[in-house]
Formats: sequence, structure tokens, C-alpha cells
Amino acid sequence: MTAQLLDGKSLARQIQAEIAERVAAFRARTGVTPCLAAVLAGDDPASAVYVRNKEQACKKAGIESRVTLLSSSVGAAELLALVQQLNCDASVHGILVQLPLPAGIDATKILDAVHPLKDVDCFHPENVGLLVQGRPRYLPCTPAGIAELLVRSGVQISGAHVVVVGRSDIVGKPMANMLLQKGRDATVTVCHSRSRGLAEITRSADILIVAAGRAKLVTAEMVRPGAVVVDVGMNRTAAGLVGDVDFAAVKEVASKITPVPGGVGPLTVTMLLANTLRAAEGP
Ligand code: NAD
Repeated sequence: MTAQLLDGKSLARQIQAEIAERVAAFRARTGVTPCLAAVLAGDDPASAVYVRNKEQACKKAGIESRVTLLSSSVGAAELLALVQQLNCDASVHGILVQLPLPAGIDATKILDAVHPLKDVDCFHPENVGLLVQGRPRYLPCTPAGIAELLVRSGVQISGAHVVVVGRSDIVGKPMANMLLQKGRDATVTVCHSRSRGLAEITRSADILIVAAGRAKLVTAEMVRPGAVVVDVGMNRTAAGLVGDVDFAAVKEVASKITPVPGGVGPLTVTMLLANTLRAAEGP
């Protein structure tokens, strides 16, 4: 059996067109242009690519994008002052601080300083708390993109056993929380680097979501025949960009699978646009 490809790229295009229509209607109604301010500190090449992609996606959707570039020698005080300035700027609706920050800067301190109403990445403790309580203000971008991909691909989440590999604050934990909520109704297991018997747990998944940052961690033997496999991993190797899943082997076992690239990544950017529009619409 060869799995059906879950094409994140074309779905992202479709959702971005829907968002662009909503942005145009919002601008016509209010005269306000939604605006995302991105802060890029340092010279990490991957971060520069992500910020550029986000900037281009904003422009296409009719969202204003403002990028502040800071050198890798920037200090925490200067970053905090910039965040405060963006917090107070009424023409800025969403703020994105691109991670990782330069060495020596406490990212938590900077992210916590972003005003919760402008926290379109959903990293602020207030927004994480609301998400956990099942009354989200913003949905975190990568998990929201994955949920959208599953729903629009007709994957049954309610009652399914979802195994999430990875417990980061950006992907694993919010993904697990979202799918656990009333309305999504999945049974969720979260694995991490200390989990014992990973293969046995992943084999019990109806839906397997892998966000570990380990190239080809998930092999065909770790996947139940017919399972849906979502590969969040982005690992730069000598062979190019690869996911956390051994795609060639696992696609012969799974019923549906995301490619890397062209799977989850484009949907992450798309959900950032949706959150920026929501931020402009106001509470
Ligand atoms: P992270 O490093 O913060 O967390 C990785 C998690 O995986 C940890 O909880 C760790 O315990 C777990 N893990 C590591 N090795 C493991 C193993 N051998 N077995 C089981 N669990 C293991 O990473 P992150 O920020 O969550 O990102 C994960 C991957 O997803 C990375 O490759 C990252 O580049 C990618 N990513 C992609 C997108 C996207 O939009 N496509 C967005 C965010 C992250």
C-alpha cells in the first residue's frame, strides 16, 4: 500500500487565499490593515529564511509586515525595549520574535514581555493557560496547522489514539493539548527522549505526530498499517532537508503521510496569518 500524500503546500495556498479574502473584507470594513511585526536577531540562516517566508506570505494576504533586524550582539535590554515599543504601537497587531535568540539572551524573558493580545505565536503563559483550559485566544501556529490539515483531509480525530513524539512548548505540548480538548476528543499519548518502548507506543497510534528533530527516527516497523503519519521534523542533512520519519519506507505502511518539505511547514506560516488577522479584529 502506498499512502496518500497530505499536501500541506496546496492546502496552505487554499487557506491563504481564504485569509486574503477575509483580510480584504476587514480592511474595507474598518480601514485598518492588519500588521505583523517580526523581530530577527542574529544571523541564523534558517531563521532568516523563515522570516522571509512569513514576510512574503503576509504581503500576499494583504497583511502589512514589518521586520526589525538586529545584530547577534544585541542585548536583552535593547530587545525588551523594542518589544515594549511594539506593544505600545497601535498600528502593530501581532508580534513575532524569531527563535533562536542569540546566545546569552533568556528567550523566556523576551517572549513573556510580548503583550498577550499581540502574541500571535501563542507563547505567552496567559495564552498557553487559555489554550490548556480549552478557551484559546490564539491557536499555536504549527499545531493549528496540523489540526487543520487533519480535519480538511477527512481524518477522524474524535476517539482516535494520537501519539505525539516530542514535548516541546512550540509543538509537542500544545499539539497534545489541542487534540485533547472537547470537540477534538482524541486520546493522546505524549512521548519524549526518556520514554521507554517508543516503538511499541508509536505502533498503537491511529495518528502519529512526530516532532523530535531527529532525522528518520520513525521507521516503518514503528507504524501501524493504515495509520496517519504527520512529520513535523525539519533536519538539515547532507542529503538536504529531511523529516523525522523515514518517508520512503513509512509511506508503504501508512494510509496518509505528510512530506518534508511541503507538509506541515507551509501550514505553520498560514496559521500565523490567521492569528494576525484575529489580533487585528480585536478581542
Ligand atoms: P525540541 O528540540 O524543542 O524538542 C524535541 C522533542 O523531541 C523533545 O521533547 C525531546 O524529548 C523529543 N525527542 C528527541 N529525541 C527523541 C527520541 N529519540 N525519541 C523520542 N523523543 C525524542 O524541538 P521542536 O521545536 O519541537 O521541533 C521539533 C522538530 O520540528 C525540529 O526538527 C524542528 O525543526 C521542527 N519544527 C518544524 C516546524 C514546522 O513548521 N514544520 C515548526 C516547529 C518545529
